[in-house]
Amino acid sequence: MARIVMKFGGTSVADIGRIENAARRVQREVEAGHEVAVVVSAMAGVTNQLVGYVQETSKIYDAREYDAIVASGEQVTAGLMALRLQEMGISARSWLGWQIPIRTNEVHGKARIEDIDGSEIVRRFGEGQVAVVAGFQGVSPNNRIATLGRGGSDTSAVAVAAALKADRCDIYTDVDGVYTTDPRIVPKARKIEKISHEEMLEMASLGAKVLQTRSVEIAMNHGVRLQVLSSFEDKPGTLVVDEEEIVEQQVVSGIAYSRDEAKITLVKVADKPGVAANIFGPLTDASINVDMIVQSVSPDGERTDMTFTVARTDLDRAVQVLKSNHDKIGYESLLSDGDVVKISVIGVGMRSHAGVAQTMFRTLAEKGINIQVISTSEIKISTLVAEEYAELAMRALHTAYGLDAA
Ligand code: ASP
Ligand code: MG
Repeated sequence: MARIVMKFGGTSVADIGRIENAARRVQREVEAGHEVAVVVSAMAGVTNQLVGYVQETSKIYDAREYDAIVASGEQVTAGLMALRLQEMGISARSWLGWQIPIRTNEVHGKARIEDIDGSEIVRRFGEGQVAVVAGFQGVSPNNRIATLGRGGSDTSAVAVAAALKADRCDIYTDVDGVYTTDPRIVPKARKIEKISHEEMLEMASLGAKVLQTRSVEIAMNHGVRLQVLSSFEDKPGTLVVDEEEIVEQQVVSGIAYSRDEAKITLVKVADKPGVAANIFGPLTDASINVDMIVQSVSPDGERTDMTFTVARTDLDRAVQVLKSNHDKIGYESLLSDGDVVKISVIGVGMRSHAGVAQTMFRTLAEKGINIQVISTSEIKISTLVAEEYAELAMRALHTAYGLDAA
């Protein structure tokens, strides 16, 4: 007997028929003798519609009311799933975030889970009851409903799995696993059988949309074995596991890209202590995240250029903040470019193999693609290139690292 968390995303519960299909998968696990907690998303499109209602009603809204509204989608699916299971003769009940409770911090709209009390759910496992948990929601310290950010049901599922000490957390979705890169861009992309938590974390935070980044972080910290698989087809998905479990390690496991990038260059800022702090301080105060940063050397030791990237949606605000701080920062001119993409190659094998970065640079050079900014970490190399070259670059890199499907 195992303890399993099964999470169904929005497309997997998009209508009554699909809820029934998902419920049959639950039934199979129950009949195999397992203890099951099901975590559900809102039916496909519902959260967007609810967010739309909020925006139509109020431009600058109270985030606590936003949460009260958008969390309702998952409440409906949890109730319907519990009812369907009951119809199949399975003992089941729905759980909202506050009923468990799933406790979060007070950051409404993007709350973090702080604690889950799984004791009552576990007690009821003993009575053969299936728990159907509404994803995406918890309860904040001021006793209000809090949501976990878009895509947050993944995080609910992994956090519930950690709290229940589940043997497995299966994420059912509309794709059959995690791919080496986006198959819509690179037709030769392959499904990955096993990937480490760490690589998956990079993939998710660098643009792969299958899992919410936070969910992978929790899985990594708590050693939760994740599986991403299709709710429509019966075949194994992708396992996300500890690095030690992966015997044949690829040097590069995947290629991620993000169009949500924009580049800003401050030309001729003073090359002296405190300048970086003067630039990035006001951006931080405006809650604008800065990603890649390069500062060029100053030939005369007096002036240098500072280039960095921000989310594309933050570009206008960032430019405004920097312009209004012009005198404090001191720069000659400001250049901005929203037509860039960040392409990253990811793999834990980089720790032990030399020449991985060189392969990337050579491949892009052979295609005549100019690299605008480079950043690296232990297991990834990211480059910023003009958006028009995104597809060409990704296909060439996919081939160069030997990832193409046979
Ligand atoms: N329904 C929420 C959303 O669309 C949470 C989720 O599905 O993961 O963001
Ligand atoms: Mg999702």
